[in-house]
Amino acid sequence: MEDEDSTILHLDMDAFFASVEIRDDPRLAGLPVVVGGAGDRSVVAAASYPARRRGIRSAMPMATARRLAPDLVIVPPRIDRYRAVSREVMEILGSVSPQLEQISVDEAFLDVRGARRLFGTPEQIGALLRERIRSGLGLPSSVGGSVSRAVAKIASARAKPDGLLIVPPEGTAAFLAPLPVAVISGVGPKAVAALERLGVRTIGELREIPGPTLRRTLGPQAGMVAQIAAGTDRTGLGRQVRDRSLGTERTFEEDLVERTDVRRVLTGMADEVARSLRREDLLARTVSIKLRAPDGTTITRAATMGQPSSVGERLREHVIALWEREAGGLPRLRLVGVRAEHLLPAQGGGSVELAGRTTGWRDLEQAMDRARDRFGGESLSRLSHLAPRQGGEGRG
Ligand SMILES: [Mg+2]
Repeated sequence: MEDEDSTILHLDMDAFFASVEIRDDPRLAGLPVVVGGAGDRSVVAAASYPARRRGIRSAMPMATARRLAPDLVIVPPRIDRYRAVSREVMEILGSVSPQLEQISVDEAFLDVRGARRLFGTPEQIGALLRERIRSGLGLPSSVGGSVSRAVAKIASARAKPDGLLIVPPEGTAAFLAPLPVAVISGVGPKAVAALERLGVRTIGELREIPGPTLRRTLGPQAGMVAQIAAGTDRTGLGRQVRDRSLGTERTFEEDLVERTDVRRVLTGMADEVARSLRREDLLARTVSIKLRAPDGTTITRAATMGQPSSVGERLREHVIALWEREAGGLPRLRLVGVRAEHLLPAQGGGSVELAGRTTGWRDLEQAMDRARDRFGGESLSRLSHLAPRQGGEGRG
């Protein structure tokens, strides 16, 4: 059926920063190369596949990476270079389909529905994109395809490195069944642990959980996760109206050291950003955190949400998951920030969210916004804070 082709493609460059460095200096080929600062307090920004085979991962402290590979080659990052190459990648993608949504420096979703007459099946188009990037830029990339953006992203990750995987609509449920639940964007470490307590490790097992139990376990994104797990999600690209972002950050006079303090600040910021989104009637596809150590070392990390959202609960979960992955790298923090990116109008392009279980949650949070605007203060800011808390860390 023509309208049921897997026309949503997700293209992700393989070990992007490291691959660019290796391309620019072929002597690095085959070596455990990482991009990052050389200091022991810095972290790995990108790791080549030979480095990954030694257990090295991005966001790992450089000292750990050195321990794993004494012959480690550390290349200082050249952000401007990566941005320039990123533009070239996006140009290649745009030449095949104008339905393009870049979600990070080295990743984009494409809807190739309109490109089929000219370029063939989604599989042929995926192969063409990879070939053009390989021959034109000398870089490896991977492509996943599906009827759902969430599943396309899962497929590209399974295709890595240097691969192509198109999941046909009727094969989606079988493709997902054996995979760990964590591959679903929106199922963070906390959710994984909670599901494990129910004896659920795979997406196939997740499907067996009764709806009410799943909602208790996963909260507001249960409906969306259930749809993705069942293979019935059809969320495609959104209409991205503005190239802007919305966020908050704060510099602290005294470094944040205690994890509970960092968690509280990030949670508050995620709520604040979600509230700003709702006030402007926007949804965010991506949420990012910024962490800066007293020595100026800065990490920014972004997560793309399976479904665009303005729900505080969802932003919070992504923000905390990002931070938990990075926390080891920067034990003391001078600056913390949270930002929502790739914004869509809540009505129209992103209205798919209204179909899911999140509707009720969003309505509830919007009602709380109205109450807060009317009565002011923090007293209504969180369902879990039954006792009013004034001021506290302040909202900047
Ligand atoms: Mg990548």
